[in-house]
Parts: sequence; C-alpha cells; structure tokens
Amino acid sequence: MTFNKLTPDEEAVIIHKATEYPFTGKFLNHKEKGVYVCRRCDSPLYRSDDKFESHCGWPSFDDEIPGAVKRMPDADGSRTEIVCANCGGHLGHVFTGEGFTTKNVRHCVNSLSLDFKKMEKAYFASGCFWGTEYHFMKAPGVISTTVGYMGGHTFAPTYKEVCTGTTGHVEVVEVVFDPEITSFENMLRLYYETHDFEQVGGQGPDIGEQYQSVVFYVNENQKQMVEKYIKILTDKGYKVATQLRPAPEFWEAEDYHQEYYDKKNGIPYCHAYRKIF
Ligand SMILES: [Zn+2]
Repeated sequence: MTFNKLTPDEEAVIIHKATEYPFTGKFLNHKEKGVYVCRRCDSPLYRSDDKFESHCGWPSFDDEIPGAVKRMPDADGSRTEIVCANCGGHLGHVFTGEGFTTKNVRHCVNSLSLDFKKMEKAYFASGCFWGTEYHFMKAPGVISTTVGYMGGHTFAPTYKEVCTGTTGHVEVVEVVFDPEITSFENMLRLYYETHDFEQVGGQGPDIGEQYQSVVFYVNENQKQMVEKYIKILTDKGYKVATQLRPAPEFWEAEDYHQEYYDKKNGIPYCHAYRKIF
C-alpha cells in the first residue's frame, strides 16, 4: 500500500489518534457535492449527501460508504473509535442515539483525516433496478450506487406503491463516479451493453411503466452524450426505445433493495452483459 505524505498535524491525528480543535477543520462547513476520502490512502469514506450540521465542531456524517469504515473500542474504554477500513488511519468516533437525523448515527470525523473529491452523478433506468445496479456497482471508477425511484408524480414513493403502476415512477439506479477515473460516456456504454434497449414498455419478463428504459440527465453534457449514442445505435440498425428525460428528484428505495444481488450472492435474471461498442 502506498500512502500520501502527511503533514505533522495530519500525522498526529491519523497515526497518533489526536483530535483536532473543534470548529477549526477545513471541512466543517464544506457543502460541495462529492465524496470524502481518506487523507492517507484515498479510499472513499463518506458521501456529501450523508453530511449534516451537528454544531459539535467537527464534520458529521450519519452514514458511511458500505465497508469503508471500521469500528473498534476506544482506548478510553467508553467511546467507539472509527478508522479507515483500508489503511487503519484514525478518523474520529461514532455515536448513536443522539437523535440528530433519522439514522440516529453521528460519525464525528477530523477534517485532517479527510480529503475531498468532486464526483459526478448519473441516473439510469433499465428495468428491475437490482439487475441494473449489479453491473454498475462493479464498474471501475464507480464510487457508489443506490437504487430508487424517479419521474413520477408522488412524494417519497414506496416499492409497493410503485408496483401498483399508478405513481408514474421508474426504477432507477443512481451512479456516483469519479470523473478522474471514468466518464459518463463509459457509464452510458455499460448501460446499453447490459439491457435490451429495444424493448418497449418493460424489460425482460418485467412489464410495466416502472421497468422502462430511461436516462435521466443532470446536465447538458450528459444529454448530448445520450443523443450521440442513440444515433450511433440507430445507425447500427437498432430501434432504440430509451427515453431521455431531465432528472427530477431521486427517491431512495428501501434498504432491502440496495445491492440486492450482492446480499443474495446471485446473478440477475434480467440483465446480462453483451458487447456492442
Ligand atoms: Zn485510509
């Protein structure tokens, strides 16, 4: 493992488990969208979406990127220390039951233990979101994937509501990726190579509005890239059914839908990779 060179202040916290003075860290009031990574080894640790204002004096998060943070009893005998699961660098402490957010967890992290990377998001719908996510979560440069619902007319939909076919929502995967490692174009190619984009009104055996092929774009660049690929595929003789729509609010799906095929150790029935490009 190769590590970044640390300043003496960073070393005091990350190696020797010191705590920076409250209200002094550079990420305390930092509000950009992206991912906080380990200062020492660059492992992604926390998403900006999980950062909240606790007024405690240190950056606070109510969730971690799955598997990124290790918990251990603190030497003080009462608190729970958190360290980077990859390099073991000290991050801070985790507290529960304080009631700050609905998740009721506060990762209290030293700014000196962190670095920040801007990330890009993309939203892909290609049928059952378990199968769509299966391929994206394994792609290089992808930091995290989340399944959810988009494009309908109801507030905070549940899976049960979406399955009635009356909400207008579509099953979607939110893909957060590092634009220094991969690109929206790579994501889009993977999208087209892992579903039947010619099928209208569903995907495989899953029929209904919620299983349609849709790309929800977040900026003009993504929109133009999708248009370019629809043309490339049309020129190859495909009848592309994919809809191109601006991204409305994304509603995260229930926990049991997240990373479904990893939890079940299974392989999707509905999404297989086939090389096109
Ligand atoms: Zn680390």
